[in-house]
This record gives sequence, C-alpha cells and structure tokens, in this order.
Amino acid sequence: MLNDLLQRNLDWSTRKNAAEPGYFTRLATQQNPEFFWIGCSDSRVPANVVAGLDPGEVFVHRNVANIIHSSDMNMLSALEFAVEALHIREIIVCGHYGCGGIKAASEPLPHGLADHWLEPIRRLARAYAVDLAQASDAEARRDRLAEFNVVEGVRRVAETPILQRAWRNGVSVRVHGLIYGLKDGLLRDLDCTVGPGHFQQDAPQKTL
Ligand SMILES: [Zn+2]
Repeated sequence: MLNDLLQRNLDWSTRKNAAEPGYFTRLATQQNPEFFWIGCSDSRVPANVVAGLDPGEVFVHRNVANIIHSSDMNMLSALEFAVEALHIREIIVCGHYGCGGIKAASEPLPHGLADHWLEPIRRLARAYAVDLAQASDAEARRDRLAEFNVVEGVRRVAETPILQRAWRNGVSVRVHGLIYGLKDGLLRDLDCTVGPGHFQQDAPQKTL
C-alpha cells in the first residue's frame, strides 16, 4: 500500500536526520558521487544497498539485463552527465546471476518488445555458443552468459564517443565489470577493467 511506503519513508528520514543532523541539508546542496553504476532493473540488485553506499555516493542507471545499447539516449545521457558534469572516474557495469532478462533471452518464446531490447544477449549467446555449451546445466549456462553480457557492456561503454573523448582529453576514467550473486549477496570483479589507452581510436580531430 502506498500509505505504508510513505510511512516507511517518514520513519527513514526521521532516523537518518536524528543520527546525522543536517544530513539532508548537506545532500541537497550538491551530489558528489564517486561511482556511476549501470545495472539491472531487478529489484533484488539495488546499487546503493548491495554496494553498501549511502544516497549521494553512487549515480545510477538501470535497465532490464544491464544492456548497453549504443543508441540508448537514456543511458548515454546519464553516462555523459556522469563523466562530464559529475566528474565520476569509476564506472561500473554490474550484472547478476539468476537474471530474468538473460533467461528471457535464452528462451525461444516471443516476449514482444522485450525481444528487441534483449537482442544483444541473443547475439552474444550465438557468438559464445561453444563456451556456453560447456556449462553443466541451463542455469550455469545463463550465468555464464550474464558474465559475457557484463564484459560486452564494459567494452561498449568504452567504445562510446563519450569515453573516447574523455580519454583523448586525458581524463583517467575507468570502466569495471562486476557480477552480483543473488544467493550470497556478493559482488565479484570480472577483471575486465578498461581505462585510458584502451580501445582508443586514432581518429583525426574533426575541425568545423
Ligand atoms: Zn536482471
């Protein structure tokens, strides 16, 4: 019920302000997050909670199955704002095991519009079919696919003109790939971090 939600909000706000007077006044004047988190919309993977961060400490974009579409204006706008306005230098693409989006993309059933959204995952599954076939069962195969989706997401963020421009300008922003386990509440580093010098193209500066 909405009333319950509003009451919970009031309780939380009161507790927070009692523990740290001036907390909201301070947060309202500026946000200075250290991380930009691109994660799945799944209600069990809230960025602040699983990373143990307070409001103001992480700038967040979430979508179904944490997919990086290179034409997604929502994600790109958030990414540009994160890098160029908030000066965030640590970007995290975070997937999770047991992802419903990955599962939907692994099924032959039609899901309507979601099939368009999930198409990059189907493409990844075709590209890594040999690796995925070595998984012990369907769940392990989907979890491996979720890892590939994170690694691909990191690469696609790195290839955006936003990151390419930042690196050309000497900005030391890095992109990391993590995966979260619903069964143990732990984040794992997939060791696919990219930073300055990675994926940089030596495109000549365009002069207008
Ligand atoms: Zn998910």
